[in-house]
Amino acid sequence: MNLILFGPPGVGKGTQAERLRDTYTLHHISTGDILRVAVKEGTKLGVEARRYMDSGGLVPDEVIIGMVAEVLEKDKKEKKGFLLDGFPRTEDQARALDKIFRKLEIKDVVVVSLDAPEPELIARLVKRGKESGRSDDTEETIRYRLKVYHKQTSPVLDYYKQRKKVRAIDGLGKIDEITKRINTAVKEFA
Ligand code: ADP
Repeated sequence: MNLILFGPPGVGKGTQAERLRDTYTLHHISTGDILRVAVKEGTKLGVEARRYMDSGGLVPDEVIIGMVAEVLEKDKKEKKGFLLDGFPRTEDQARALDKIFRKLEIKDVVVVSLDAPEPELIARLVKRGKESGRSDDTEETIRYRLKVYHKQTSPVLDYYKQRKKVRAIDGLGKIDEITKRINTAVKEFA
């Protein structure tokens, strides 16, 4: 089983991804985490990505697609299913991912789509910003990220509804309850 965890910033993708990774022994790939490590290490990718991340915009498709293709091709040998978190975020990324999956002969893909009301997302991100000091979790940047999500990322869900198995999950509630909802939805594929 391969999972794509989809949803707006602050919906809890990272939290649920860690649990799904352990329950189904998946290879977790978070593009946000990879980029943050690159920024910290000051690599060429990090220096370029930082410009976009700090303002809350998306890193250009050609940069991110190349990065994900490299990771997936390298890690396919591990024979674990993939758990994608934060990718794809544009329709072009989704199309590119389909191509990579075809090349790697990956067929079983389920999209888990988490959602929650916008005021809740903003409240969670503001709280995370205060606790973790993540530089893009300031109120102004959060609002911009949500705008980017609605404009560029949410159409990806329609793309998938026409092509893949999509399971919509309510992301409002206790973390354990949401994990249970996801498990119930994906159990038939595991
Ligand atoms: P969140 O889901 O809370 O916005 P992420 O950690 O997934 O946080 O992403 C942080 C930032 O990293 C994004 O705002 C964006 O600049 C960049 N990023 C992550 N994934 C992608 C992607 N697939 N395409 C373009 N940019 C990305």
